[in-house]
Amino acid sequence: MHIFTHPACLKHTPGPDPAFAPQRLTSVMKALQADRFSALSWREAPPLATEDIYLAHTPDYVADVLRPIEAGTERAFNRETVAVSGTAEAALHAAGAVMGATAGVMAGEFGQAFCVVSPGGHHAEADLALGYCFFNHVALAAISAQKKMGAARVAVVDFDVHHGNGTQSLFWNYEDRLLISLHEENPLSGFAQETGAWENIVNIPLPRGSSGAFVRQAFREKVVPKLKSFRPDIFFVSAGFDMHRDDPLGSLALETEDYLWMGESLRESADALCGGRLVAVLEGGYNLDILGASVAAFVTGMMGKQDGC
Ligand SMILES: [Zn+2]
Repeated sequence: MHIFTHPACLKHTPGPDPAFAPQRLTSVMKALQADRFSALSWREAPPLATEDIYLAHTPDYVADVLRPIEAGTERAFNRETVAVSGTAEAALHAAGAVMGATAGVMAGEFGQAFCVVSPGGHHAEADLALGYCFFNHVALAAISAQKKMGAARVAVVDFDVHHGNGTQSLFWNYEDRLLISLHEENPLSGFAQETGAWENIVNIPLPRGSSGAFVRQAFREKVVPKLKSFRPDIFFVSAGFDMHRDDPLGSLALETEDYLWMGESLRESADALCGGRLVAVLEGGYNLDILGASVAAFVTGMMGKQDGC
């Protein structure tokens, strides 16, 4: 199993709130550098080439995101999605890392990868920055796996506490792209009735306060059976850690060990369905005291029972 990251991702530094600062990444990296993870291989990847970003985003929007921002200033795409001078480079490297991980998995070089990247991606739509996200790296990698790497069918499981609206919009019309999004119910999007043009979108809104037991039941009854019937050639995980009980942005009640369980479950599905091909990507997770431990638990589950530590 490989960990993909890049120092350029530390250059996305919007605002003074430590929950959105580069310390998110450093706390995750520190947790994954513990002795028990010595079997992990660390990799860097080049930034994503502009033409590859066009797989999911419009040229005008890409040009807009890449427009230089003067050092020491900010540019707000909307109230919550703020870019600084290092954001474009960080976003290109975040997308490049996910693409590098996907290329390695599709080539059979390694089986699984976890990408420690910033900014996140799952809220970004074809021509819209949203929810702290600029380029939708999970969707870009999934579409590239189809168009350039020989995958016929691709799936994304998104367990960030917020709805994966960007990935949903980019997958909606495509029979061979599946999104399963578990998220805290909200009045804006991610309703169970949103099912895509081909029943290829599965939204699982979770009531406030839902525990890990509730999420595990949803995995057993909905996530795993849907993956089984869809038969992806590779699948991706938008891994947000803001369903944790102590996360300041979510109102669910997962414990750290629930992430271990989800990692194990998704690895078992990958082994059973698509030769173990599994790429997970860091999305949200804003409590710096528990983010590292939650990611470490998930990665331990992803490593599987044989190559686990
Ligand atoms: Zn989130």
